[in-house]
Amino acid sequence: MIRSLVLKRKQLDEMIEHVDRCAPIEACGLLAGRDSRVDCVITVRNREQSPVRFVMDPIEQLNALEWIDSSGLELLGIFHSHPAGPETASPTDIQQAAYPVIHVILAKGKDGWRARGFWIEHEISEEVPLYVE
Ligand SMILES: [Zn+2]
Repeated sequence: MIRSLVLKRKQLDEMIEHVDRCAPIEACGLLAGRDSRVDCVITVRNREQSPVRFVMDPIEQLNALEWIDSSGLELLGIFHSHPAGPETASPTDIQQAAYPVIHVILAKGKDGWRARGFWIEHEISEEVPLYVE
């Protein structure tokens, strides 16, 4: 079970750049690494192209998961944006959480994008720390 994520500033910037470019459409992607430490940010196309929900393009998602596996990394997190808020996981996010990983939500507020992490299990969302170094 992963209880926190350690990200480099550059990786957080990569996520923000991607979600900002896709806004107002929700954007998504995967975080791969080892031992709670993120090594790689992989963006995945939102098949829904919707401002309020996302479904990862299944081919891109499969390719990304295969790449993570063949690189000897683990899937540590799934990120997606809430271009119009809120900063927390939505009821849909909680219902659809299928992987035992940290769900990172990037929400746009008046001071720009903010990232928060959540562990979702048994339809309960609990905030976990994201450490940026
Ligand atoms: Zn969401």
